[in-house]
Formats: sequence, C-alpha cells, structure tokens
Amino acid sequence: MLGLMQQRPLLISTLLNYAETWHGDREIVSRDADGKFHRTTYAEVAGRARRLANALHGLGVAAGTPVATLAWNGFRHFELYYGVTGAGRVLHTVNPRLFPEQLRYILNHAEDGVVFFDPIFAALVEQLSPHLPLVRAWVALCDRADMPAVAVDNLLCYEELLAEAQPDYDWPKFDENTASTLCYTSGTTGNPKGVLYSHRSTVLHAMGACAVDNLAFSGRDTILVVVPLFHANAWSIPFAAAMCGAKLVLPGPKLDPESLYLLMEQEGCTKAGGIPTIWLTFLAWIETHRERLDLSKLKLKSVFSGGTAPPRVIIEKFHDLLGVFLLQAWGMTETSPIATTGSPLAKHDLADRERMVTMQIKQGRQVYGIELKLVGKNGENLPHDGSAVGELKVRGNWVISGYFKNEGGQVTDENGWFGTGDVATIDPDGYVQLTDRLKDVIKSGGEWISSIEIENLTVSHPDVFEAAVIAIAHPTWQERPLLLVQLKPGRQPDKQSILNFLSDKIAKWWMPDDVIFVESLPHTATGKLLKTELREKYHGHLAVHG
Ligand code: ADP
Repeated sequence: MLGLMQQRPLLISTLLNYAETWHGDREIVSRDADGKFHRTTYAEVAGRARRLANALHGLGVAAGTPVATLAWNGFRHFELYYGVTGAGRVLHTVNPRLFPEQLRYILNHAEDGVVFFDPIFAALVEQLSPHLPLVRAWVALCDRADMPAVAVDNLLCYEELLAEAQPDYDWPKFDENTASTLCYTSGTTGNPKGVLYSHRSTVLHAMGACAVDNLAFSGRDTILVVVPLFHANAWSIPFAAAMCGAKLVLPGPKLDPESLYLLMEQEGCTKAGGIPTIWLTFLAWIETHRERLDLSKLKLKSVFSGGTAPPRVIIEKFHDLLGVFLLQAWGMTETSPIATTGSPLAKHDLADRERMVTMQIKQGRQVYGIELKLVGKNGENLPHDGSAVGELKVRGNWVISGYFKNEGGQVTDENGWFGTGDVATIDPDGYVQLTDRLKDVIKSGGEWISSIEIENLTVSHPDVFEAAVIAIAHPTWQERPLLLVQLKPGRQPDKQSILNFLSDKIAKWWMPDDVIFVESLPHTATGKLLKTELREKYHGHLAVHG
C-alpha cells in the first residue's frame, strides 16, 4: 500500500521562493574587487533572478544547457546560482585559477554558449575567447560604467541585460532529477571530469547541510562564504542559507586576513567556511595584531573547514584565541560535497580540550543521506575499529552515479559504491580519519605511512608554516617519506630540530629520511598540495643524498 502524501518536486527555485517570502529582508552583503560594499536582500535577489531567467530566454539559452561563470563570491554570482537553475538551465561554475589549457578544455567540453564573468577576469576572457568557438556571448558582471575593455565578440553588460528583461517570471515546474549545476574536478591527473548535480540532489544536500550535526544553519546566522562559489557548490552554503534565511557575506576576491576580519566584525558573522590555508593565515594575522584588535566584538561561533586536513594548531588556536569551534567536513566534488562532518557526540559533552581536539582532527562522521565503508586491498570490507586502513567507498542521494558525458565510464560498482581514492580509518563511533590519497600513500617495506599525519604534526612545530610529505623510491624499502618544509618568515631551525620534534610523536620507521626547506609549496587550483609536481621534482632525491 502506498502512502497518501503529496509529492512535490524538490526544485532549487523553491529555496529562493521560501527565502523571498519569509526572509525577504535578510541581507546578502558583498564586497567587490575594489573593496566596495554592496547590500541586497533575498527579496531583491529573487526579483533579479527572475529578470535573469527572462534574459537567458532572450539570449537563446535552451533549457538544459550549461551557462558558465568565471566569478568570485559576489551578489551577481549568487543571483546566477538561482536565476540559471530556477529557469531549468545548468549553472556551470568554472574555477578561474585553473591553467588556461584546463579552462579551454572544460568550457569546450561543457559546450557553454554564454559565459558570465567578473571584470577582474577580462584579460583571461580575452585569452580564452579565440579557443572557445561555441561561446556566443560574454556577459560582464557589472554595470555600464564598469565595463572592461575586452576584445571579444558579443560583449554584454549584466546590469543592462537585467534592466531590459521583463520582471515577471513564473519558475517552471519540472522533474526534480533535472540537471541543475555542473562542476569539474580539478583533474590533477588526466583531464578534468564534470560532475552534474540535479535539483533533487542539491535540495537534499542543502537540507542535510542545515542539520544541527552538520553545518547547523539557522535564520539567525550570518555566514561568511570564504569557500569560492566556483568550488563544489561552495559546499552548499548558497542553497542551505536560503533554506533557512541566513544572512550571507560574500567577500569577493579579497581573502586576506585583514579583509576577512573586517567582514566578520562589521557584519557580525556567526559562521564562516573556507579551506585550512585561509584559516592558517587568518590566525597568524590575529596573533600578530592581537594588541590592537578587540576580539570581543566578534560573534563568530564556528568555522567549517574542508578540502584538506587542517593541522591541529588551527583547531587549537581557534579555540584558544577566539573560543571558536572548528568543524571539519570531508567530501569531494563527486559527493556534492558534504559526506562527513566532525560534530561531537553526547559522550563529548564533558570532554576536555585535548579529547575534543583529538575528535576534531578527524574528518568527521557520515551524515544521514550518505553511506560509507572501508575496503581493503582485495576488496574485502574492513572493520570500523579506528585502526584498519583502507579505501573509503561512498554512496548516497547526493553522490555521483557517472561523470558528465560518461567520461571515465562506469564509476560505481553494482551496488552503487563509488571509490573515493581516499585512504582512511573509521573508528567505532563512525569518525573517519584520512591518512592519505591512494596515489600519495607511502609504501615502505609493505606497510603504509600516512603523509597527512606527518604533515599535520610537522605544522605544529612553531617555526613551520606548511609541510608536505611525499614518497621517494628507495632500493630496500620500496618507498620512504621525504619531508618538505616551508618555514614561517624569519625562522631558521635546522633539519635536526624538525626531526627531533617528530621523534617522540611518530613510529621510528615513519621518520622522514630527509628534510628539505623550500621557499614555497605548490598547490592545485583548489588549494591542495600538488604532490605530483613535488614527486617529479624530488624524484631520486634519496638515491643521491640518502
Ligand atoms: P579536486 O577537484 O581538487 O579533486 P575536491 O574538492 O573534489 O577536489 O577534493 C576532494 C578531495 O579533497 C577528497 O577526496 C580528499 O582527498 C580531500 N579532502 C576533502 N576534505 C578533506 C578534509 N576535511 N581533510 C582532508 N582531506 C580532505
């Protein structure tokens, strides 16, 4: 017997409708590349998103086709999130930090016909346009007065487009499984692959994100969105915030610590989300300027961090300096992205700082809607005992079933499990702890050494800014760890001081065979350590020096 409840399609337009109706005056504050502030509301965003939907019709963008953005976090980008998807088109957020060849590949592969771009990317647009025969229109996200000089065919002005478009538009009703947004993985190996989300997956993921043991959004929150809108749906923040009418603060390209602090203080941010590197620099700045800051003005309660493992010091300093809880989230573009969050359990109610930090350093527990399992080298299921190490597999309502245009073919097994390429443990409470990426694992004498754990410990050394551990070929042990260290400015510890620091914290056979001090470490466009480049560069290092 079937239940007798209504079935309404889970469409992204319903999120905006809700925010417009019940939280219409809640603000979306943004800052542009020049530092100028702009204030709008959910009601205004909804009105402009409807005009945008009409403008897309006018531009001849057919339903179901992708529309690209090359833009930072600003109110116009936010409007695109809703105007494009609500109208049944697909929002393709492109990461402008990718290499030009990757950008060309991605925009051609997605067959984007219209590209919306921030004026700050004018030079990039000019460089790309001759290679993008399918792009019919370039729309600068500004008004007439700020139009950049770009030598491209059919350059349009966003504000004019909106002003000329009809204001009335009824958000169409369609199948909730219709495609809504498209994000490409950064493709550190091989070509980037597209992940095509649906309205249903997006709304379910946003509902999950709002839950208290997840990102815990509420209508009383003011959320600073440091994670770029072009990175994996900005972790669902633009959608989850509308679902509860939270105020949003969009920092534009100014992500330096002082600018972020200013926004937090001025706008009364209660939550903020970004990658660990942002928080590392932010905390270092606070420490340096502590004397002149009135930290009591901050309303910040929690910060969520994902993308890479946050070093222990970040968690500790947020707690000690600001009384802020760092909530870790783990996921991938392929998982929308939120799959686990590091929220405490009842057993942590009385936990002291040390026990709490030990929990927070893990990548978190799976949220409802996601299933995780750990699989050994021969495909066998491994126990959740906190010590068995294997590959994480994932499935759920907001997990990929295949890449866009079937790149890579079948990516799940017959039971829907998707191999994440992440190596981890899962403890009896369900907390996942990543030890490595499969491709970065260090296989020494038949055992695995966790590069993430050594990196994390090294960064606790007072002189170290960032660290990377890579596998280096070794004649006896197959591979051995090599530690690359970027020091804080003005610090000069020697190798031995770093090794001594590690010696009582890790097993002897985990100790790096050498330490190399470097000016800086290379990162991918999403802020991850670019280990492929490091492996190429230091290939054979120990054979020569070891
Ligand atoms: P890319 O496009 O760079 O592959 P994703 O943003 O999809 O990017 O990255 C997903 C990967 O990022 C995960 O598979 C994992 O290795 C890493 N990652 C994500 N969150 C965390 C975290 N909290 N701690 C450690 N690593 C993480």
